[in-house]
Amino acid sequence: MGPTGPQSPTASAPRDRGMKDRDDALRTCCPSAQPDWAGAVAFGIIGGTAREPRVGYLEVAQPVSGQLLKLAEPVSPSEVFRFAASCLHGGCVHFQDDACTLVRRMVQLLPEVTSELPSCAIRDSCRWWRQEGAAACWRCPQVVTDNYNPSGAMRAAAHPPELMPAA
Ligand code: SF4
Repeated sequence: MGPTGPQSPTASAPRDRGMKDRDDALRTCCPSAQPDWAGAVAFGIIGGTAREPRVGYLEVAQPVSGQLLKLAEPVSPSEVFRFAASCLHGGCVHFQDDACTLVRRMVQLLPEVTSELPSCAIRDSCRWWRQEGAAACWRCPQVVTDNYNPSGAMRAAAHPPELMPAA
């Protein structure tokens, strides 16, 4: 569904295409990662309000450092920043049938909060963008990785149905 990237048809030979797909998969990043994942970078800062958070996207993604994490104190870094790091694929509870079910639920359940593509430093490698295209980006600014005050729709989007906690 993504309008660009590896899902776009190319004229490459099957063998080359297979290698390209593998290389692209290795570079695909999760835009709701934790800062202690290998190679994590911060690409957004949470603004807005507790009820209506909005991500401000950094012009340049910043490597995680002790200094950066300290800026979030006294709350957790993932309440203040959005981090990206390599997609965990089958190591993630949301990854099924070669797809991220988290962003699939987001697109189904969350409202759009912008009609424009945010200027996002990680778009080229973002799994959500690659899988769902602009529909993911129109919803992405309301996502807080560690969200202790989620709406009902956000709670439903954030959990696979079988792992949904009791209200
Ligand atoms: S979904 Fe879109 S806006 Fe959000 S991190 Fe991915 S590319 Fe950036």
